[in-house]
Amino acid sequence: MNAFSELIQHVEQFQALPPEALVKQDILRLGLRFSEAAMSLSAFKPKDYFIFSFDLVEIKKMQAEEHRRVPEEIRISGGNLNLRPTVISVRINPLSPYLVDIQDNQLRLSCEGQILADVEYHPLPDFYFEKLKSGKPMGEMTPVLEWGYLIYLTAYRMCQYFNKDEQCQFCDINRNFVQQRKAGKPYTGIKDPEEIVEALGHIDRLDTKAKAYTLTGGSIITDLQGTHEVDFYVRYVEAIEARFPKRWISKAVVQAFEVQDCQRLKDAGVQIYHPNYEVWGEELFSKICPGKTRVIGFERWINRVVESAQVFGAPNVIPNFVGGVEMNTVCGFSDVDRAIDHTAEGLDWFMSRGIVPRFTTWCPEPLAALGPQPAPPLAYFAKLLLRWREIFHHYGHQPPPGYGQPGPGKAVFSVSAFMDVLEPTNEPA
Ligand code: SF4
Repeated sequence: MNAFSELIQHVEQFQALPPEALVKQDILRLGLRFSEAAMSLSAFKPKDYFIFSFDLVEIKKMQAEEHRRVPEEIRISGGNLNLRPTVISVRINPLSPYLVDIQDNQLRLSCEGQILADVEYHPLPDFYFEKLKSGKPMGEMTPVLEWGYLIYLTAYRMCQYFNKDEQCQFCDINRNFVQQRKAGKPYTGIKDPEEIVEALGHIDRLDTKAKAYTLTGGSIITDLQGTHEVDFYVRYVEAIEARFPKRWISKAVVQAFEVQDCQRLKDAGVQIYHPNYEVWGEELFSKICPGKTRVIGFERWINRVVESAQVFGAPNVIPNFVGGVEMNTVCGFSDVDRAIDHTAEGLDWFMSRGIVPRFTTWCPEPLAALGPQPAPPLAYFAKLLLRWREIFHHYGHQPPPGYGQPGPGKAVFSVSAFMDVLEPTNEPA
């Protein structure tokens, strides 16, 4: 069965899910390719490589220099499936069945030659034209994602778990840093808090779309510039919140800290805490996250996630897991239903304690330790969305704060469809 027939078959089989969610998950898992014409348009927001590569091929193998010519995200709509506007992160794969091309003067998405939807690119925000004292581009210092909703601040573009080959096995952060530098991109290893504040000043002045920022970077195991991990990240939040108090919802993606360190983040101004557990279960966690296992350990990690609710409030603790990585071919499940049952055990564990995990879609990046390999089947993602939503409703949770509006046609979270499968609300984002 070709990819198009398989997609349509899944849309028919999983009618409890919006078709937008299935198309989105399939594009995220298989990546996208672009025609010359589709890459030759101007004035769209480019893929800024905000932290990882999130591509299915290395830059050096991109024959058409796609890495500097494709948009960060596409928004698809219409077509035979009558899709509501759906925002999808771009993962480059020159061999993908999904193609963005121009036909009849309109950007269109096709799959195996079958037209699926109209396509839009996110326009270049006005603030992208502003100049910084350092000469660095705004898109390097303060890129936006999620159709302009989220400012993504990667303060530290490396992770010390790589120093001992203990990095999370799906992660290419340090190797992506090297390939971006080799490709000539200005890519700042450690950003200065003042540089970030300067760039945010332009956004504050010129933008009304961004509602949140995420502060993140690699893990710091010993110290960085003589500073321990919590202190390192706290100083960014303090600098931002001193200058722009509560201007945006503040989120931090960092390790699972003890309660007193969580309190320091909270006191500095962090509202939403993302201590990502990546994959459920002691055994898989130890194989996939060897560094986190050595330094913190699975049991302690997940217990710290729950304890952090004392500081942030349970709805504001949103740990991520990498959807699909438990089906990797090196140490994972080969059976979809067993993988889903395993992951659902973790979802139940957290959600029964008031914490709602979210997921990103695993991208088997060639520079990650797991290496290039086939993505999990589309049925895995369909079943994951169904189970996630079922457990979410079972415990009576509300859509997470800091993600914009939920529901098909409204969701902007672009690296999985978890927000697309919830009921729409009219609450402000
Ligand atoms: S903690 Fe893991 S996922 Fe995060 S940057 Fe380090 S290696 Fe990558």
